Amino acid sequence: MSATKRSIRVPPHLACRDILTSYMSADSKTFYLETFGCQMNAHDSEKVVGTLVHEGYRQVETVEEAGLVLYNTCSIRDKAEQKVFNRLNDYKKYHKQGKKFGVLGCVAQQEGEKIFERAPYVALVCGSASYQNLPQMLKQLDAAPSAARAPFDEASSRSPALSPAGGGISRTTGASGVSPLVRITGLDDRETDKCFETEFTARTNPHRGYVTIIEGCDKFCAYCVVPYTRGKERSRTSESVLAEARQMADLGYTEIQLLGQNVNSYKDSAGNSAHRKTFAELLAAVAEVPGIRRVRFTTSHPRDFGRDIIDAIDAVPTLCDHVHLPVQSGSDRVLNAMQRLYTRAQYLERIAWMKSAKRDISITTDTIVGFPGETDNDFADTLSLLDEVGYDAVFAFKYSPRPNTPALNLEDAIPDEEKARRLDVLMTKQREIQSASYKKYVGTTCEVLVEGRNQARQQWLGRTTQNKTLNFTAPDSAPPELGSYANVHITTSFANSLVGELVV
Ligand code: SAM
Ligand code: SF4
Repeated sequence: MSATKRSIRVPPHLACRDILTSYMSADSKTFYLETFGCQMNAHDSEKVVGTLVHEGYRQVETVEEAGLVLYNTCSIRDKAEQKVFNRLNDYKKYHKQGKKFGVLGCVAQQEGEKIFERAPYVALVCGSASYQNLPQMLKQLDAAPSAARAPFDEASSRSPALSPAGGGISRTTGASGVSPLVRITGLDDRETDKCFETEFTARTNPHRGYVTIIEGCDKFCAYCVVPYTRGKERSRTSESVLAEARQMADLGYTEIQLLGQNVNSYKDSAGNSAHRKTFAELLAAVAEVPGIRRVRFTTSHPRDFGRDIIDAIDAVPTLCDHVHLPVQSGSDRVLNAMQRLYTRAQYLERIAWMKSAKRDISITTDTIVGFPGETDNDFADTLSLLDEVGYDAVFAFKYSPRPNTPALNLEDAIPDEEKARRLDVLMTKQREIQSASYKKYVGTTCEVLVEGRNQARQQWLGRTTQNKTLNFTAPDSAPPELGSYANVHITTSFANSLVGELVV
């Protein structure tokens, strides 16, 4: 059906202004937001929350209390995507009570208007590249009648009047003539050069904050949806990143995490080329902002990982002793099929730079098991890489076929049971590696950022510069303050964490 707008049918005894007012229930300006997926999504949600609050909305803790229910979605693996549709299904009964539903993020961008077919009670579908249009979309949503007065007729809404590509608003009336559904879309194409910059970020942690420096991805790994869901690679200017870092320092933040799908592919978009910074220069500049004590960055792509990043870590103590460098596979054959743009030897060269650094840099990675055609020998190459690098942590995933990606057309799919077996073998091996390597910290003293308290265990939760979890006890007479930095003497190690005592 075309995108032609149809008018909403208003009961004749009510004037338009009256009906809009009455449709707005008392809690229509409350929202509930659930976030799925990576740190980029978590940070996008902080910006979405800030934008909504600035538009006069109030965040609530449960779907039941909310007038507007939003899901910020992830489509990196099939499971994450399914979760969102399960959630929508679980809560569709609330549509009849007048709640409005919105799908944001990667599933929104990937599925677009098809979401209206799968979940016809959804009113807003918005990909991450369109978040800067949220204020206008919220106004449209606000002005739309809710289903409390306009009963939703699922059967009649299966062939919706879809919005124009690129975004818009459409209204469709059910066959019964009583169910006006408003459908608002924000779906930018891959070529967008917009970044979601806002002064209204509602950060959830008062000490540690995210700063996006680059959005999108141009790498097109054969298995990955990100280039399709998050658009082309586009960097912020170093001036705006530094201004945000200074503002955060003024507000009392001491730790900053620079974010991007490939943070080290950063290309300063500053107008004046003389002022443009490389990624390593930007890292150093953020780390030198007065008041900032720790700077992290994630995720780095091996192809664009230069030695200058390690030189910066060597030179600037506030840059944390940690690099997350996803390898995906230890086999050159699989790396080639994945279109990863580097070989095992080139990857190991970068690891050698880290190991020759002045500080003990912890190294973590992502791997995928069961990529189509991955043989026992290929998998053995990944296992041998774990030994060779001695990672401090590994995030391993079973390959999940994703829409639009070239890997969908590859033959020799690995059965799910075999993927699960390989995942188990890999994680068992990595646990052994970590159990042995974490022991070397016992007897040493580390500085932690105090992040929380586990009342049940009577322990404080801290994080080291290497991004390791260090739980510790402190005398009742000298409890550490949340957000402070404390020295902890390490007494015990596990495969994924360390335990110690506060040095007083
Ligand atoms: N840009 C980063 C890089 O190049 O390594 C990765 C970002 S991606 C959002 C996070 C991780 O999800 C990847 O490192 C990869 O291990 C995993 N991943 C991506 N697509 C996947 C798929 N189709 N199946 C399983 N895991 C996947
Ligand atoms: Fe996905 Fe590859 Fe881009 Fe990382 S570099 S986001 S894995 S396409």
